[in-house]
Amino acid sequence: MGLLYLGTPLTWDEAMQYADHVREHGITQFLHTWDRVKDRWGDQLLWGDEVEYMVVTFDDEEKNAKLSLRQTEILVKLNQVVGDLTDDDTPAHVTVPAFHPEYGKYMLESTPGSPYTSSISSLLSVETNMHYRRTLTRKHLKANEIPFTFTSFPRLGTRGVFTEPHHSSDDAKSSYSLFLAEEITSPHPRFPIVVANTRSRRGSKIAINLPIFIDKRTPRPFVDPTIPLQCYPEDPEAKNGVALIDHIYMDASGFGFGCCCLQLTFQSCNVGDARRMYDALVPVGPIMLALTAASPAWRGYLADVDCRWNVIAGSADDRTPEERGLNPSKDDYIIPKSRYDSVDLYISNDWINKPEYNDVPAPYDKGIFQRLCNHGIDEMLAKHIAHLFIRDPLVILSEAINQDDTTSNHHFESIQSTNWQTVRFKPPPPNSPIGWRVEFRPMEVQMTDFENAAFAVFIVLLSRAILAFNLNFYIPISKVDQNMARAQRRDAARSVHLRAVDHVRLRKLLQRRRNYFAIVFSTVPRPLYVKDGPIEDEYEEMTMEEIFVGKGSKFPGLLGVVKAYLDILDVDEEDRLQISKYLDLVRRRAIGSLQTPATWIRNFVRSHPSYNHDSVVSQEINYDLMVAVDEIERGVRRVPELLPEDYTPTKGYHSKPNGP
Ligand code: GLU
Ligand code: MG
Repeated sequence: MGLLYLGTPLTWDEAMQYADHVREHGITQFLHTWDRVKDRWGDQLLWGDEVEYMVVTFDDEEKNAKLSLRQTEILVKLNQVVGDLTDDDTPAHVTVPAFHPEYGKYMLESTPGSPYTSSISSLLSVETNMHYRRTLTRKHLKANEIPFTFTSFPRLGTRGVFTEPHHSSDDAKSSYSLFLAEEITSPHPRFPIVVANTRSRRGSKIAINLPIFIDKRTPRPFVDPTIPLQCYPEDPEAKNGVALIDHIYMDASGFGFGCCCLQLTFQSCNVGDARRMYDALVPVGPIMLALTAASPAWRGYLADVDCRWNVIAGSADDRTPEERGLNPSKDDYIIPKSRYDSVDLYISNDWINKPEYNDVPAPYDKGIFQRLCNHGIDEMLAKHIAHLFIRDPLVILSEAINQDDTTSNHHFESIQSTNWQTVRFKPPPPNSPIGWRVEFRPMEVQMTDFENAAFAVFIVLLSRAILAFNLNFYIPISKVDQNMARAQRRDAARSVHLRAVDHVRLRKLLQRRRNYFAIVFSTVPRPLYVKDGPIEDEYEEMTMEEIFVGKGSKFPGLLGVVKAYLDILDVDEEDRLQISKYLDLVRRRAIGSLQTPATWIRNFVRSHPSYNHDSVVSQEINYDLMVAVDEIERGVRRVPELLPEDYTPTKGYHSKPNGP
């Protein structure tokens, strides 16, 4: 969820007094970083993954699968265990992993102990690595607990018993939620204060309404009978119509922050490459969100969406009514998006990034912009930072108010790491060997390590191809935003056409690079022959299939790009076979011969013998679903509609250590 520092967080009223202080020193810290690393060059293409889990405990007598609120004990145990391990105790190519708290007290996050390198053998160790982390976690849980890589827990926030132990929401003092108890949140000081300060800044409770999936016997109009009439005294909103008819109403940050995802971070050779990579991944974001869609059930109901994105965007929406454009304000300061949302600005200063692409309103702090420009930072990057810095810091720790700006990035991160966009541009931290990085954040976590590894391998190869061929997939940001909305629709991977690049130019570039066998790691000057046509002629709507496998001679497809890149590498036969298994999963999702997890979950619920065709995911259905997911993960339940026929529970694949 962001960087985790320990300390005493200030309440909102206290914190507000320091907001400008944090912004001012945050920028000073960024400028020190910039001066130190702007010319840094030659960093390796290291990368890493972050996998989030929810721990579920099974009550077989009651037939109830509940979220186990044992994060603290589990992390103590796991950290003890990993503390005693050395790399000799782990499988080949796997270093001792790290485990971290996440928002939910039922959540964990794991990362590899050290980054993957740019070699194929390292790339192909990702599944073993993920599997090792899962197995280690599983081994140190109670007998009836299982770690799931599952995006949204279908019964979070129902009136039933969905946590172990059960807590009432009567005293939800951070969120004022009608549905989620205070105890659902990790006790790490950062999390409850993010919830409370988001609500305080917003001036009202979180209000998320997801359209409900209307089934044969869903009551119409659907007025949720589980919303208690007795509202929290401070919050008359639910009564006054915040909870919409025909929608699933969620009133707390926990509904979004309590979701799990798969994130990847790439180190770039230098800042220019990082900016190029950031831009290239921005339009890829919604496409991958649609392809990994895994969250069709919320608060005990099937929704008419397949993804978590809007829920989490709503969960972090700390904008005041004026900023949301609800009340006419003096200075008309509207902020169009939540701080958890899609990217607003491309940032590469390559000629190929045309000003017309940045076509959505992206308010920025003029003073900060000027300060950055005065320091010699180009306008594009200055605007990006000044745009992030329109936000207030959500967490200020009393111990950390005064920092040495030459050696700390604390205040910079306090704004940067609470801007949760689909892609994040990350400057090198002080006192660390880490270089310029880009984090890819939209993907929903998949139920098996095989799938998570497949998407990781695909995105890593795509990012390499982007750099190697100097590709870019620019479409106007407004179209990326449209794609974000479409990507979340039910069955988007099947039935929604996503707008993506149609690149005659891309194809030509790709061919040219292949012929020349050139790998370009630096800015390519604008060739003289390039003529600019209208932006609208550069892209067109394509199906997911076309986006991935190509469209005639016009567009090679993202898989075509990856394969062209693989062709220039020296990959041995066995490794090539393994890579093609991963790419094939991506291809089959895109062409629809395999379902997304969201479709599979929805179908499971709808075909359950006790389902009443009323959109309700009952305790019993949820229990059977979680049992099934565990069986799928362990390979004892075959689901050819979801996973390839030859899927076996992964132990991972070992490339020969001396691979390229
Ligand atoms: N769990 C969040 C999600 O599903 C991500 C939190 C983080 O940034 O680590 O998007
Ligand atoms: Mg996380």
